[in-house]
Amino acid sequence: MDKRIYLSLSRQSGFEQEYVQKALETNWITSGGPNVDEFENEIENYYNEKAFVTALNSGTSAIHLALILLGVKYGDEVICQTMTFSASANPILYQGAKPVFVDSEPGTWNICPKCLETAIKDRIKKGKKPRAIIAVHLYGNPYMVDEIHAIADRYDIPIIEDAAEAFGSYYKGKKCGNFGDFGILSFNGNKIITTSSGGALITNSLELKERAIFYATQSKDKAVHYQHSEVGYNYRMSNICAGIGLGQIKMLDHNLIARRNIHSFYKEKFQNINGTSILEVLNEDYFSNYWLTTILIEQNVDKNISAEDLRLAFEEANIECRPLWKPMHLQPIFLKYPYYGNKVAEELFKKGLCLPSGSNLSEEDKNRIEEVINNFFNK
Ligand SMILES: *Cc1c(COP(=O)(O)O)cnc(C)c1O
Repeated sequence: MDKRIYLSLSRQSGFEQEYVQKALETNWITSGGPNVDEFENEIENYYNEKAFVTALNSGTSAIHLALILLGVKYGDEVICQTMTFSASANPILYQGAKPVFVDSEPGTWNICPKCLETAIKDRIKKGKKPRAIIAVHLYGNPYMVDEIHAIADRYDIPIIEDAAEAFGSYYKGKKCGNFGDFGILSFNGNKIITTSSGGALITNSLELKERAIFYATQSKDKAVHYQHSEVGYNYRMSNICAGIGLGQIKMLDHNLIARRNIHSFYKEKFQNINGTSILEVLNEDYFSNYWLTTILIEQNVDKNISAEDLRLAFEEANIECRPLWKPMHLQPIFLKYPYYGNKVAEELFKKGLCLPSGSNLSEEDKNRIEEVINNFFNK
């Protein structure tokens, strides 16, 4: 059996070990520390504009802290894009708040402006104005930033920008992660750069960053002894993980090019195959890191094939593909919550597939992938 090709693996720069080694030698083996400060600086410099970055132990923690900093509490309602990973929505439940799911539009697969406005109006009519909107740049593809933020501004609802998959993406020349009132990044092992497990919260003031660190380190009051007036969390990034991150951030440009090349490879491969389409950005306002390349396969075209058939063909060659994120409003845990939309996300889920897109894909891997595609569509 050929070695397994995974959906999305990272690639090391070789510098990770040095930073981790230094942390071990200086005995900085804890949450926070010099690597964490330096990692935050690197990301703040990357944004090159007003961005205050708090490094955390996951992207999920970052979303949770954003909700806490916005004062979301028991009984509040929070709007969330339905087409996403569960990590976008779970923190709403951590706060005892109620998620309200909104459909995607077919151009970016992200939150649909029309459905969003319908949802906001209806929730207000029913007696509760949503306390926040969680919008996601899915698969690295920016959401309709101008349209979505205009609606949020009109109703004065803050946006949490889930850029977990979109570090390196742009909208109208501005970097994703810094459009919202809060932005979040993930450095999980499958993301474009990794700290093994980790994330970051991006805010637009030092004061908010300090509040985020306060909550992330058990809400310690200013006292010599341990004193707490608020609920705290253990969400800070460890100095070891930040060391991996410092090595990894050197790979961002490289990985961006690698992932975008993989996207071009698939685009070329599928362009003449009937009934298939690779997700691309809408127009030149959008620049995607193409974290994952995704494909739609229309059922019953030509040879009566489905996305699942293609996935199984890849699996037979020991190559991992995954269905798209199953929409949140279809998940058993979230079934009872409101949903506004036209089943766009449901249709995408039925027809879609994520193709192997790791930053480490070799030419040999691409050849194996190509062979599966050729055999599958020519049989
Ligand atoms: C990965 C991911 C997250 C969560 O990040 P973790 O670091 O795994 O907690 C949140 N939202 C989306 C869309 C993601 O893909």
